[in-house]
Amino acid sequence: AKKKGINQVVIYRPHADVETYKKFTLMTDLRKAVQEDELLLHFQPIIQAKSQKIVATEALVRWNHPEWGYIPPNEFISLAEENGFINAIGDWVLYKACQQLKNWQSQGIDPIVMSVNVSAIQFDQDSFVSHVKSVIEETGIDPKYLRLEITENVLVEDYVQVKEKLEQLKKLGVSIALDDFGKGYSSLIYLQHFNIDVLKVDKLFLKEVEENEKSKDLLRTIVELANKLSLEVVIEGVESAPQFEFVKGIGANHIQGFLFSKPLPEEELIPKLYEKYLS
Ligand code: C2E
Ligand code: CA
Ligand code: CA
Ligand code: CA
Repeated sequence: AKKKGINQVVIYRPHADVETYKKFTLMTDLRKAVQEDELLLHFQPIIQAKSQKIVATEALVRWNHPEWGYIPPNEFISLAEENGFINAIGDWVLYKACQQLKNWQSQGIDPIVMSVNVSAIQFDQDSFVSHVKSVIEETGIDPKYLRLEITENVLVEDYVQVKEKLEQLKKLGVSIALDDFGKGYSSLIYLQHFNIDVLKVDKLFLKEVEENEKSKDLLRTIVELANKLSLEVVIEGVESAPQFEFVKGIGANHIQGFLFSKPLPEEELIPKLYEKYLS
């Protein structure tokens, strides 16, 4: 093998250096982002399959970086999880989302559910439940319209503690969704052990359906199971009319995807909330 000198690292991997640099500055900038008003929320409608009526929106965080421009959440959320800043971001997202929900209701818009993503690190904080409680109180929302989306990473932690926390959250009156279902491995067990209200089926599932018949049966079985367990199902990533027909046909009651709407800034969402129906 060739000897690797320091120059070769620079010559052969300039991209990696840029990436490292970018990651480094982003880490630092993330600290400022919340205070400097660089974060914002977009909202993606979740509709009832039968009526195509909007029943919920998912709050999705956006970062408009002053130098780098728009940075997708997948990139900075994992950074924020690495440096612990996810807690500040998560607090901000929850507060903003609840404020928004309250705001819509005061405008006379029929109540819909606000679904908010919760990182495993955030959930793991001792203060998480009391924080949710205080946000509900401060914003004055009816907690039955607040839904927290958690992923399997949350559930793999200490069983007793997680179960206890979920119970406390349920006592506050909020609902719990298991997000990205099907991405991991042992998901079915969790359905049995934890008190989950909503199952959000990961968009990878629907992609698979186009490619092989077997995954059609798999998706059908998951929806049937969820229906039997009285879980609400949200199928994510519905992008085409045939996909929509398929998921409706297998009895999925709720749908989220680009076919109906991408995540929208508030001002673009409002008219849709007044209309209530998407088609
Ligand atoms: P997620 O929670 O699974 O959110 C759904 C993602 O799927 C969103 O991407 C949404 O734009 C995208 N999506 C919706 N419909 C379709 C579709 O029909 N086709 C395709 N290809 N994609 C669709 P987004 O907004 O880029 O967010 C990516 C991920 O970042 C989220 O995935 C979530 O894991 C994380 N995230 C976003 N906001 C927050 C937040 O406030 N807190 C935390 N902890 N994570 C967040
Ligand atoms: Ca989500
Ligand atoms: Ca998801
Ligand atoms: Ca996710």
